[in-house]
Amino acid sequence: MPVMIPFVDLNAQYLSIKKEIDDSVSKCITEGNFIRGKIVDQFEKDFASYLGSKYCLGCGNGTDALEIILLSLGVGPGDEVIVPALSWIATAECVNNVGAEPVFVDINPLNYTIDINKIEEKITSKTRAIIPVHLYGGPAEMDEIISIAEKYKLYIIEDCAQAHGAEYKGQKIGTFGIASAFSFFPSKNLGAFGDAGAIVTNDINLADKARMISNHGQLNVKHSHKVIGRNSRLDSIQASVLSVKLRHLDEWNQKRIIAALFYKSLLRKKEGLVLPLTEDEKKHVFHLFVIKYKNRIKLTDLFEKNNVSFGIHYPKALPFLEAYHYKNHTAKEFPVASEVTDEILSLPIYPEISEDQIKLICNLILEN
Ligand SMILES: *Cc1c(COP(=O)(O)O)cnc(C)c1O
Repeated sequence: MPVMIPFVDLNAQYLSIKKEIDDSVSKCITEGNFIRGKIVDQFEKDFASYLGSKYCLGCGNGTDALEIILLSLGVGPGDEVIVPALSWIATAECVNNVGAEPVFVDINPLNYTIDINKIEEKITSKTRAIIPVHLYGGPAEMDEIISIAEKYKLYIIEDCAQAHGAEYKGQKIGTFGIASAFSFFPSKNLGAFGDAGAIVTNDINLADKARMISNHGQLNVKHSHKVIGRNSRLDSIQASVLSVKLRHLDEWNQKRIIAALFYKSLLRKKEGLVLPLTEDEKKHVFHLFVIKYKNRIKLTDLFEKNNVSFGIHYPKALPFLEAYHYKNHTAKEFPVASEVTDEILSLPIYPEISEDQIKLICNLILEN
């Protein structure tokens, strides 16, 4: 049995920066800095400046980031929010959790992000916002989404959980809408050693509101609770890890891009295999490397036999999850998402993946 190829290798990444991480974490512990404080403030500043945005607010996780943005904008009962049919459930769940209703839009067959030609037909007088997802690390069609949002006076909330450092027309994603949500779940392109997330915005009012909501309704004055809030803060230890990792993010993204190009060069000739699109004016950061193949089970069987890890992101489109059965959606309403979810397959990709590992995976695919 060949050695196992993991889907991601977080230990390899840790070992490559072990001293930096260990020093940063131990400083945090020695200084007795655990919740928010200087270390968190510094990371927030650094991340905002990395993106070219004014404000960043660390919070508990990416799902909370989305939800707190919606709450800060006053989106709630009676409102509708447009979300793509293919994403992680958090993109839609946050809408339900503030009492509003997610409205699903089918995806673009080429890059799997929200189909800009199918958004307008889903807009009603109740629609308040659109949540584009930069799925797998590839930016959504922001120009067109911005035009639609302007025409109907909707907020754009970017779900950037899979796309730290991705760019659209030379501008970092996460800076196009009223606010954006990032997740630092360990396996994301920028990952903590536990749950963590952030809200990024240029809007001071939204930043203050979000800061209050995430810290029990208080802003700068302790015990002055101005609104009903909650507890969703970024731990200092996570911030101390993220500060170190942020310095390596561009280099790691570059390695992901090189790995993706290598996969593409090797797999180009495989008949019937659809590879991730290379699009002008978009910097895709390959959180995932997703291929499409009609006979997917043949490949997954092969990988299982040969100890190659893989993923499916996602096996079911959001409208068809049990949680959304109450909407009674049919496959006909989301033809692309329905088809794609039966055929997509995520191959291992991470900055430390070697050429030999990629060759081995590609040879398996090519020889079968
Ligand atoms: C990971 C992810 C989230 C949620 O992030 P958590 O930090 O796990 O809450 C939201 N949206 C997308 C697209 C994600 O991939």
